[in-house]
Amino acid sequence: MKKDLDQDKTTSFKEITTVKHGGHKIRTGRNIIDRSKIGKADTTFQGEKIPNQFTGHTFKNKIEKYRLDGHKLIYHLDRILEWQRGERIAPIQIDMGLTKFCNVGCIYCIGVTQGGMTKGEMIEPDALMRFIGDCGRLGVRSIAYIGDGEPTLNPGLYDSIILAKKLGMDIGMATNGILLDMNHAHEMLRDSTFIRINLSAADPDSFLRIHQSSKSNFSMLIEKIKSLVSLRNQNNYDCTIGIQMVLIPENFDQVVKLAKLGTEIGVDYLQIKQCSDTEYKEIGINPDDYKKVENDLKEAEKLSTENYLVKVKWNKINILGETDLYKGGFRKYDICYGTPFLGQISGNGDVYPCGPFFGKKRFYMGNINHESYYDIVKSDRYWEVQEDIIKNVDVHCDCAVGCRQDYINKFLWDVKNPPDHINFV
Ligand code: SF4
Repeated sequence: MKKDLDQDKTTSFKEITTVKHGGHKIRTGRNIIDRSKIGKADTTFQGEKIPNQFTGHTFKNKIEKYRLDGHKLIYHLDRILEWQRGERIAPIQIDMGLTKFCNVGCIYCIGVTQGGMTKGEMIEPDALMRFIGDCGRLGVRSIAYIGDGEPTLNPGLYDSIILAKKLGMDIGMATNGILLDMNHAHEMLRDSTFIRINLSAADPDSFLRIHQSSKSNFSMLIEKIKSLVSLRNQNNYDCTIGIQMVLIPENFDQVVKLAKLGTEIGVDYLQIKQCSDTEYKEIGINPDDYKKVENDLKEAEKLSTENYLVKVKWNKINILGETDLYKGGFRKYDICYGTPFLGQISGNGDVYPCGPFFGKKRFYMGNINHESYYDIVKSDRYWEVQEDIIKNVDVHCDCAVGCRQDYINKFLWDVKNPPDHINFV
């Protein structure tokens, strides 16, 4: 075979002796290729391409469809430039709860630690509509109903989705799905960018154990997800439908099962994420435990197909190792610059820079039940809090591990701390 290669090369390329190069030999001691012959050779040899024939790609990288384990701030350079000029920017995205209560009791719920849950407490529907209008005026680009209580318990949910879309914003929702009103399924699927079902168990017994909801709700939920997928497909709506698993030792045995279930019910993706704990470790997560489930996570990822993605958030699961974000349990940035770009609002309407700071009065910025969000974002108070975070918060000690802003914080840290010689790109 080696002989064939050499023979082929002599017909394709002329090798130049080292004499022409002043006797300089390179480390292999082989002759140097005559580059004037490049492009004139046969394009293949033994099934492989010879380099520099310029006849097309040998390998195609799969384009990331959703980028679930990363960020997309790089596509908002205009807002970054405004921020660098010191302007009082509007958030690109807002994550918010719509309520402060829930119809299930997931055993990993961080909402319980962030100011607690109170039945009936929510953002009032009128205030919610006013808030959506304010976001449109400010130039907010997306709103995600993520976090705190269950959004389907807020009667204003469906109208707010329609209004947000009408005002040109993208809107998505994470829900346990049990109370999703299928009478509103068409508007939801038409106007939402994504609907993500929080499902961390793959059978009725585990559903009861992890979500503390009845076994019968499990089957009902699965049927509901299937109906959503089918309605979406029949009507060619663009809405992405996914499921999210929060990984805790109690559901390690569910990883592969859930990945298989995702294929069966036709969702677009299953995202498997770390369980974020508080700075006081109230949920009792030991990131070291994730090592025990690594093989299952890899097996689950292999179930990905052209139309179904199983995505493990390795960047955050491997917090004790080294990832893009962490090294040995420490973040790879020292200052949180992300909160003006990604705002967070509690399910009772309180505006704070981020979820882990809900209930810490020092960082309270206002409440959208009583005030205009537009005015809050323009206020001195809002920017004093942002400044307080930059100057006084030690992200390695004062902050919850795996917070939402981690990805963009790392990016903004790099923007703020350029290396020498940046013009040598
Ligand atoms: S780094 Fe700290 S201040 Fe910044 S968003 Fe995360 S928890 Fe909040």
